[in-house]
Amino acid sequence: MGNPGEERATKVEDIVQEVFNAYKTNHHASQFVLQREKHFHYLKRGLRQLTEAYECLDASRPWLCYWILHSLELLEEPIPESVTSDICQFLSRCQSPQGGFGGGPGQHPHLAPTYAAVNALCIIGTEEAFNVIDRKKLLEYLHSLKQPDGSFLMHVGGEVDVRSAYCAASVASLTNVLTPTLFAGTAEWIARCQNWEGGIGGVPGMEAHGGYTFCGVAALVILKKEHLLNLRSLLHWVTSRQMRFEGGFQGRCNKLVDGCYSFWQAGLLPLLHRALHARGDAALSMTHWMFDQSALQEYILLCCQCPAGGLLDKPGKSRDFYHTCYCLSGLAIAQHFGSGDLHHEVVLGIPENRLQATHPVYNIAPEKVVKAVLHFLQQPVPSPEPEATAATAD
Ligand SMILES: [Zn+2]
Repeated sequence: MGNPGEERATKVEDIVQEVFNAYKTNHHASQFVLQREKHFHYLKRGLRQLTEAYECLDASRPWLCYWILHSLELLEEPIPESVTSDICQFLSRCQSPQGGFGGGPGQHPHLAPTYAAVNALCIIGTEEAFNVIDRKKLLEYLHSLKQPDGSFLMHVGGEVDVRSAYCAASVASLTNVLTPTLFAGTAEWIARCQNWEGGIGGVPGMEAHGGYTFCGVAALVILKKEHLLNLRSLLHWVTSRQMRFEGGFQGRCNKLVDGCYSFWQAGLLPLLHRALHARGDAALSMTHWMFDQSALQEYILLCCQCPAGGLLDKPGKSRDFYHTCYCLSGLAIAQHFGSGDLHHEVVLGIPENRLQATHPVYNIAPEKVVKAVLHFLQQPVPSPEPEATAATAD
């Protein structure tokens, strides 16, 4: 006792206990309800602001586009074509002449908004959306960030961490600019970020963290190199992050539960399931992921919904689009087991709580991944422009 971390954890357990108690006294059994309408209205308001207040100096506009569009697709709420067209035009203004996307029009490109913009455009999935992406410039931009050790910078002159490898692999694979040269050494560099705990840190030697672990594993799945990891110790690390009392996940050992890790941590289990299956592991379930899917749904539905719409980290925190996106994404992971023909649903509460499934690597709808990949496969991989040619061209 007396450990401040422990006291904070006890306090969160107390708050969650209060929520559970209030729920038990006010409701009959099995009445967990996802407040769809409320969340839809919150997201719709956000969408309107996105397409109205362009002059806003926000540095993460493509992220807002992605968080809101993905939340709406999980809720199966269609977006009017006039709105998606506005978003396409807005994102094209965020695209840099050097390739990649910035946080807003005229800003320097950065891998994080590049990832968000490409995901948002793939969710829209129209010809207009696909045509926004300058693939040749995108490939040049990715090359400009590549480091000799296989890692990527987040932006020119910026820092290296495992997020950049995921963002690069994600956008390159969706838009068919993934080349062996571009990712030479990347998988081996990511594998070095796995530490003694079993999870993955931001760079080699760092503490394991849910966000970085997701990025590292998802990037390795894209690069088809999951076998470079110690999958058993990774499985042990991630399953130990689901909180026994709250049912949600923590980001790191000894930290508090947080709704957004419902995706960053639980999203790892489909990836691990696949990797272990490929290895011929005979003990794998054919109906459930290796975490308590009902307990996670209970935490999200009881503790992460803002009564006015939107979702949040934990009771007492305020809602935002980031937590709305990742709580709903985690809920979708917990509801849907498997992919393709092998599919099993575990929907806690009323049937209307069911969300659209999400692709565990890209976190957009699986059919949107297929559509984007098929679209860009028809276009050849651009060859990076040799510098000599560029110089003689002027
Ligand atoms: Zn969070």
